[in-house]
Amino acid sequence: MSIIEPPTLEAYVVNDTHIIVPCPFHRGKKYHIHGSSGRLLNCKTHRSSHCVPGAYPKGYYIKVTDRTERAYIGKSNQILKRGYQELQDLYAEQLSTNN
Ligand SMILES: [Zn+2]
Repeated sequence: MSIIEPPTLEAYVVNDTHIIVPCPFHRGKKYHIHGSSGRLLNCKTHRSSHCVPGAYPKGYYIKVTDRTERAYIGKSNQILKRGYQELQDLYAEQLSTNN
């Protein structure tokens, strides 16, 4: 992976406020948190880096996929039951109105 061209990072979770991505630059699963604008659908979006200065000079792409959990996470980055069903419902609603 080049650190000059923007890499693509797959999101761990997305919810109504945040997209949370594991950073391969940081060993040991450090996550960077970006805004989701309430959008839970799969997407690929370019963002400025939230990593250490110089790690991603051109930012990175964040990819939200079918593997991305629609969920909130706790302090240990675990998927929470709280709000989980509500997010599945919201996701289904966005999918149904996407076309
Ligand atoms: Zn990082």
